[in-house]
Amino acid sequence: MKNDLYKKALDARLKAHAPYSGHQIGAALVLENGQVFTGGNIENASYGATVCAERVAIWKAMSEFPGQKIKEIVVVSDAPKAWPPCGLCRQVMAEFAKADTQVHAGNLQTLQKSMTFSELFPDAFTPEHLDK
Ligand code: ZN
Repeated sequence: MKNDLYKKALDARLKAHAPYSGHQIGAALVLENGQVFTGGNIENASYGATVCAERVAIWKAMSEFPGQKIKEIVVVSDAPKAWPPCGLCRQVMAEFAKADTQVHAGNLQTLQKSMTFSELFPDAFTPEHLDK
């Protein structure tokens, strides 16, 4: 699955809106129900309103299939060394991923890193912390 997601992330990257950073990022994920969603980063002139590719894909997925969990996600950038999900994306993923969700990061040539979500973001703050 990760190679299919990698290709979809590369395609999604081409639709990114990145006039400020100049870095088009792509993401693709598959939910546990098998549905696939993609996203590119969407930047904004008010920089703080920018949304990373991973979160675009996650918003699309969760707005269509609330309650689903992410089974696997790929993010690709044009950097020589793959960019992993940023801290904000990791926190968002903590809401919709599981400990064993597969996370892959790559560049334009190949996937470079693969890990589980718990390896990417150990001791994440999750909805379980709010349980009474
Ligand atoms: Zn991010």
